[in-house]
Amino acid sequence: MVEPIIRVENLSVIYEPGKTNEVAALKDINLEIFPEEYVIFFGPSGSGKSTMLYVLGGLERPSTGKVIVDKQDVHEFPEKKLMEFHRSTIGIIFQAFYLISSLSVKDNLLLPQIFEGAPHNERIKKMKILAERFGILDRLEKRSNELSGGQQQRVAAARALINDPKIILADEPVGNLDSKNAEITMQILVDLNQKFKKTVILVTHDPRYLQFAHRVFYIEDGKIVRTVRNAERQVSAKTAVQHLSDLEKLSQAYPYLTETRLRAKMILNQLILPFDLDQQRKIEEIIEQFIAHKFTAEEMVKKLDLSADQGGASLYASTARRLGDEVIEVAKELQIVEDTPAHKPSPMQVKVMELRRFLLDDFDGDLEVDQIHKIDLAIMNRLEGKLARADFKKLLDLAAKKGGVGLNTRTARNFSKRLELVLMSRRS
Ligand code: ADP
Ligand code: MG
Repeated sequence: MVEPIIRVENLSVIYEPGKTNEVAALKDINLEIFPEEYVIFFGPSGSGKSTMLYVLGGLERPSTGKVIVDKQDVHEFPEKKLMEFHRSTIGIIFQAFYLISSLSVKDNLLLPQIFEGAPHNERIKKMKILAERFGILDRLEKRSNELSGGQQQRVAAARALINDPKIILADEPVGNLDSKNAEITMQILVDLNQKFKKTVILVTHDPRYLQFAHRVFYIEDGKIVRTVRNAERQVSAKTAVQHLSDLEKLSQAYPYLTETRLRAKMILNQLILPFDLDQQRKIEEIIEQFIAHKFTAEEMVKKLDLSADQGGASLYASTARRLGDEVIEVAKELQIVEDTPAHKPSPMQVKVMELRRFLLDDFDGDLEVDQIHKIDLAIMNRLEGKLARADFKKLLDLAAKKGGVGLNTRTARNFSKRLELVLMSRRS
């Protein structure tokens, strides 16, 4: 029998124990993960996915229970041993944002090896072999922010592999990538598992990726509510998404519904929206770009009309026109876009909107339009250096009555932390 590479026993994680804001992020989890397995933790925002990954990586301690990784109890390690274990056993892939943009690709790749005892020329050799495998050998002297998103992801993947870890952890690695780069990244994870024989553990809330895993742990409110084995795992990100029937896609988006309920949903979907799920997703993306001022009304209509190959929703021209008009109408009613001729946003505005979307990525509360405007303004001022980090946080926290955004303190702190992370890794 194959020994599991990870064994989790009666694991609970409680944040702020004993305080009024106590949160049980993980509740009595038991599971095993085997060598060379590709598993996914799938669940809505706040369900405990990141916490799970932190615990597996030894970055968060269990409140109760045990985590055995590669036959060792991770949380009995003293600090120094934990770091060593980290470097040798676990590689973490974050989003492309976490490359250090002021360093060259080469130095980014060498970074995890700094603490290893190996001689310099050996480290260089190892780095070059990996760079070649990931097709970035001719990019080594470039700064990482001069690379395309897909290339940055390949650098991040190569970096995670440099100490030849057995286990790769990835926390929503494609959260901020467009679909092309998301596809590249997902293919890298598949390859790490298939070709490099790594155990891959991915955390995501996006059902499109479930098919790549051998097993999926559905996580909800800190508990594993379902474990599903994939009989026909996909190993190519390119075609994978199209291979699913609408019912399968729905079942992944709503893992907790019964099959009859899913069929009912499908019928309702057909009645309300004469588009298939892929089209719906695409239309949603296009509308999003429009209300984020990245497309003008005309561009939106054109996108709706274009074929899927060209990045469009492949509607008939007349349908695209009608739908476009309705979107504009509704958006005006809901005061989502102003009733003025569509304008092209400045590069600064685009940047601010991107950052705001990044900050809100994990946020599941509701915001008023007014709050969003204030957040944008604060981001802009922070970017322009008119607002110090602490003042940015204060402004988010301050009540609306007093001219602030009126977020709660923890959200304000989180947003501020995320913004600084991005600024830190982007500033050259
Ligand atoms: P996910 O990654 O699935 O969105 P998380 O693991 O980040 O979920 O969070 C699980 C729960 O724990 C959420 O309710 C979250 O608000 C809470 N939580 C996460 N980190 C902390 C923290 N450092 N302090 C207090 N509560 C936290
Ligand atoms: Mg998370």
